[in-house]
Amino acid sequence: MVAKYVSKDRENCDVRSPDTPKTSSKSPRVAVRSIDTYAAQCDKCLKWRVIATEEEYEEVRSKMEESPFVCDKKHGVSCDDPADIEYNATRTWVIDRPGIPKTPVGFKRSLVLRRDFSKMDAYYITPTGKKLRTRNEIAAFIDANPKYKDVNLSDFNFTSPKVMEDTIPEDAVRKVSSSGNGSKRKALKEEA
Ligand SMILES: [Zn+2]
Repeated sequence: MVAKYVSKDRENCDVRSPDTPKTSSKSPRVAVRSIDTYAAQCDKCLKWRVIATEEEYEEVRSKMEESPFVCDKKHGVSCDDPADIEYNATRTWVIDRPGIPKTPVGFKRSLVLRRDFSKMDAYYITPTGKKLRTRNEIAAFIDANPKYKDVNLSDFNFTSPKVMEDTIPEDAVRKVSSSGNGSKRKALKEEA
């Protein structure tokens, strides 16, 4: 099973994930924009386990294919223990692809949820605080900063997790539905 990110309760706006840029000020009320909680699903009992840190989560995710997550991997936990968290619409869930490499040391991978909940955008922050949105930008940065020449370009992955439709807050859906069904949400992306 795939590891998932979970983003925060919809009402509670204050995103505390360190990789979170501030929500655009024009938004009438602050919406959820980034990842709040990390979780992985046990391959055996299918319960969800909260993963404490992003680093740990990235580790689990990067090895998911060869080594599926199971409850025992969490210290002192077994499949007999109740789930840490339930998959439901009290928060918006986004599902990651397994196998995304761990973020190179010093860099920070960041994900921001679009205001219409249509998708998350992935980017990297360099050790110097620069925001890079494409692999070309990463390559240019590495070229310009020989100090990072050992960083592997293939460790940068812009695949963003899938936003789970059934966990998108109703008010977000309503906003979007005026312009049609879900497939038309892309039309709103310029706003993001
Ligand atoms: Zn289990």
